[in-house]
Amino acid sequence: MDCREALPLMHEYLDGGLKGREALALKEHLLVCPACRERLKQLEKVEALVQAWPQQEVPSGLTERIMQALPPERRKQPWWLWVRRHPAASVAAVFVLVMMGSFISLWNEDTELLVKGSDLSSVVIKGDTVYVPEGKTVAGNLMVENGKVQVDGDIKGNIVVIDGTVAMASTAHISGQVTEIDQAFGWLWYKMNDWVSTISQAK
Ligand SMILES: [Zn+2]
Repeated sequence: MDCREALPLMHEYLDGGLKGREALALKEHLLVCPACRERLKQLEKVEALVQAWPQQEVPSGLTERIMQALPPERRKQPWWLWVRRHPAASVAAVFVLVMMGSFISLWNEDTELLVKGSDLSSVVIKGDTVYVPEGKTVAGNLMVENGKVQVDGDIKGNIVVIDGTVAMASTAHISGQVTEIDQAFGWLWYKMNDWVSTISQAK
């Protein structure tokens, strides 16, 4: 068995549907393949993540849209045929797995301050800290990666801080939600939700 054959078996195993000869074959492969052992470990984490993910009504046709959103070379790979037959939660898990390689490496390399928002004219950046000064208003969402946020003014939207902190003065007013994400997995979760909602809104 090679790694490509092992992957769908791991999913079957996590779904509790792997028996007999296939279970044995997977076990044998895992004994000799550290890469797949690591992958299974990550899959188990993703599985736990998906379990903890709030149950949502899955819009009809979501699976098809996910398949369409994938690059064509991915769609040609045979194990995606297996994905097609599985429920949307599994699709989400598989998607995270596929993206995980690049996400994790991005996570490790990307330690520079990143500030995103639709209105950054009132935002002041000093060193690794992003300030919203008192009396100033940010008209929209604010996302900061790898930095601190000090809010003394108003934010008319949500704040998402990834791998950083947010501090609010008594003068601060934030109309939306404040989300702090400190771990790669939390970030993945956030991305997954973000991505799934993008897909479900797409026509
Ligand atoms: Zn392997």
